[in-house]
Amino acid sequence: MSDKLHITGLSINDLAEFVQEIGEPKYRAKQIFVNLHARRALDFDEMTDLPKAFREKLNETARATTLKVESRYVSADGTRRFLMKTHDNYPVETVYIPTEDRDTICFSSQSGCPLKCDFCLTAKLGLLRNLTAGEIVEQIIVVLNDVYGAGAQTPHGTNLVAMGAGEPFLNFENLIKALGIMADEAGLFIVPNRVTVSTAGIVPKIYEFARLEKRPNLAISLSAPNDELRDKLMPINRRWNIEELLQAAKEYEKTLRRGERFTFEYVLLGGVNDSDAHARALAELLAKYDLQRVKINLIAHNSAEPLEYRPPDIEQVERFKKILESKGVSAYVRRPRGRDIYAACGQLAAKNAPNLVRV
Ligand code: SF4
Repeated sequence: MSDKLHITGLSINDLAEFVQEIGEPKYRAKQIFVNLHARRALDFDEMTDLPKAFREKLNETARATTLKVESRYVSADGTRRFLMKTHDNYPVETVYIPTEDRDTICFSSQSGCPLKCDFCLTAKLGLLRNLTAGEIVEQIIVVLNDVYGAGAQTPHGTNLVAMGAGEPFLNFENLIKALGIMADEAGLFIVPNRVTVSTAGIVPKIYEFARLEKRPNLAISLSAPNDELRDKLMPINRRWNIEELLQAAKEYEKTLRRGERFTFEYVLLGGVNDSDAHARALAELLAKYDLQRVKINLIAHNSAEPLEYRPPDIEQVERFKKILESKGVSAYVRRPRGRDIYAACGQLAAKNAPNLVRV
């Protein structure tokens, strides 16, 4: 990429510095911000409320877009999966999931992922690199423009989840910066309580996250009720085990505001972690730490080559849920979306799957 500044990752204050550096008045910062984030214009020439000479100067010194959509798949259920490339050719995946009353956009925080969750295809890529704040924000703009067209107002109720490729807490600074930009009411105005950040268990960052003044919702991927199994499924457990993770969760719980809860994600793998005994052990674990304001999201694994896991039986998913509920734990089964386009959990990076049809 040229050395032009990627300004989609700048807050209004950062933009103010930038415009002054190129000899423009400070108020231009807000104008650019509104164009980029409220109107979602990624081409300076479309910012027709800016003087032509200023637009030319912007074209010389800055760029609004760096991601390139390489392919796009639309599922029978309306889910859209985007495979993008950064300017330096690293893959970025983003998924749009419509439901009756709201849209959810699942974005990536890293290209690839350094963690080695055994049930996850992205893990096979390893970490390619952290995404910049601008690349995180741009994913959301690209998706909204694809669905609604540039310029259309961002629909109220758009939810974001940091559950695409990568471990968000290993790119903490850029993530928090991007979320701050997207929360700005002059722009996308997607406020923190509409955002969920999912971690595989980077314990020190859970404490740091708990201290944030404006923070999104937290989800922790647990997926096993004991260390022996979790060590195998999620090797990050060998660095921070279940005891340390649940202590952090307990501290986090103490900081929740009225009406807030947090989530444990539990990926159900057929014959591996989905037995009645696992469900009982999970309920006991939550009771041991007296975790009260938590819910469990049960996610049936979506098998894809070359992973060797199989999905759990549908009846067993229901049994698992019922056992948790009988022990007083709130449990929900997450409906798999976009299975046919390999957009579901654990399937990102299944690029060469045979039945993918580009749209
Ligand atoms: S499940 Fe998430 S944290 Fe684990 S390897 Fe995959 S992308 Fe990384």
